[in-house]
Amino acid sequence: MSETFVVPDSLSPSSTSTFQTCPLQFRFQNIQKLPQPPSAAAVKGNVVHRALELLFGLDAPSRTAQAAHDFLAQAKTEFEPTYDITGLNLSEAEAAKFWAECTVLVDKYLQMEDPQTINNIDVELWVTAPLQGFLLRGFIDRVERDANGGIVISDYKTGKAPRANDVDSKMTQLHMYAYMLNDMRGEMPASIQLLYIKDGVRHTRTPTEQTMRFVVTRTNALYKAIEKACTTTTFPTNKSSLCFFCNFQRWCPEFGGNPDKAAEEAPIAYPRPAA
Ligand code: SF4
Repeated sequence: MSETFVVPDSLSPSSTSTFQTCPLQFRFQNIQKLPQPPSAAAVKGNVVHRALELLFGLDAPSRTAQAAHDFLAQAKTEFEPTYDITGLNLSEAEAAKFWAECTVLVDKYLQMEDPQTINNIDVELWVTAPLQGFLLRGFIDRVERDANGGIVISDYKTGKAPRANDVDSKMTQLHMYAYMLNDMRGEMPASIQLLYIKDGVRHTRTPTEQTMRFVVTRTNALYKAIEKACTTTTFPTNKSSLCFFCNFQRWCPEFGGNPDKAAEEAPIAYPRPAA
């Protein structure tokens, strides 16, 4: 018999996206919280986010290219002893390539915009908003004021920029951040923007009352679906090209696996070093 699952009392924009991509992956990752090995692409993104977080902690005139590189070096020092890096098991040559790619990303960011011109008011801002029976929560990379005094929410991405047809779906997460910030501060953001650093591409949208209503309706509906999945222990699979990147393939029925063995086997398959 399948185990039962506790209904979560909060959701992040990325967890709702995981549920939409594949409910079974959501179960493994967000409900059972099973261990996974680190991914080089995700860790590279985290390292660059950390360097930019530190950079935007400085006064605007001090945000030079040299400071950005110094903070990347600090981020490297912070990350190197962690499982995020040690778990990648990089050879010396692979490690050199990994850090060189982080440097390229920081340089590409500096080509996209001049950080000295950004009037940021918050970085890595924790935001929440109550919805129907649960809390929506998340971290915003950067909040700034534009030339007209309006709030701008910025989110850095270090992966490939999406095709034109996919941009609006990628913006969903930022509309959720806009909703939370508006709920907390009573000020509707003037714009939201995704910065695809690697490709030097920026996508901007304007939140409206209509998009805010859509966030509420859509997220409440997703929560209801998650609640039902937990109480009925039914998390369907959604086989797609993304399965190639899924760490839970061996426990997925689409690949001949048994999901109920994952709780016992994943910690053995992906052991974490003792803290
Ligand atoms: S392998 Fe594919 S279908 Fe199976 S859990 Fe992972 S993402 Fe879902």
